[in-house]
Amino acid sequence: MSTGELIGLIVGIALVLLILLVVLASRGKQQPQRLCGGCKRVMLPVWTKCLFCGWAPVARLEFILGPMANQVLQLTDEVTTIGSVAGNTVVLADPAVSRKHAGIRKLDSNYELADLGSTNGVYVNGHKVPKRTLVQGDIIRVGNTEAVFKRES
Ligand SMILES: [Zn+2]
Repeated sequence: MSTGELIGLIVGIALVLLILLVVLASRGKQQPQRLCGGCKRVMLPVWTKCLFCGWAPVARLEFILGPMANQVLQLTDEVTTIGSVAGNTVVLADPAVSRKHAGIRKLDSNYELADLGSTNGVYVNGHKVPKRTLVQGDIIRVGNTEAVFKRES
């Protein structure tokens, strides 16, 4: 192999690497970086809370069915309760909802949904559950009300 061929080969490899780099870089730009609301460092998508300072985004319920449809409830309280009578965080005038039907408790950076002894049960993604740690996108059903659990900012 002559020197000219060798240089050509090296330039060729360098070009391919450069194109690969540009493709990878442009791919990375499509996903917006998630910044910590506390220390403003970049958070990886798998983190449910900032590993630097412990900050966690406030989760919310986006109601999609029932009397609360199109409303959003920020889960800022330690305990959020859902039921048919006054005193609950969310009051649902629905005969299928028990007086104290369900509760969502904040545990560190997790949100735990629990059936508080309801008559008709609590459903997550179509399954009746006594208790469950909620994840992004879970669909919660209580009586005739459905809400999506969201925790991304
Ligand atoms: Zn942080």
